[in-house]
Amino acid sequence: MFTIKCPSCGTETAISLAESVYEGPYRCWKCRGLFRVRIEDEELRTCEPLSEEEFEKEQQKESFDK
Ligand SMILES: [Zn+2]
Repeated sequence: MFTIKCPSCGTETAISLAESVYEGPYRCWKCRGLFRVRIEDEELRTCEPLSEEEFEKEQQKESFDK
């Protein structure tokens, strides 16, 4: 399990990672903020804000919920 901290509101969300490297969309359940994240070696490396349109495009590529 990996815990992502929302850069916008600070809410932590635990997610399960299938691999040690994950790059993809993330939506905060609390503030509904959309981000593209990159997690590497259990560290959050990148977290960029996404627009709704970009988020949906990212989601079509891969999904968090396995
Ligand atoms: Zn948030």
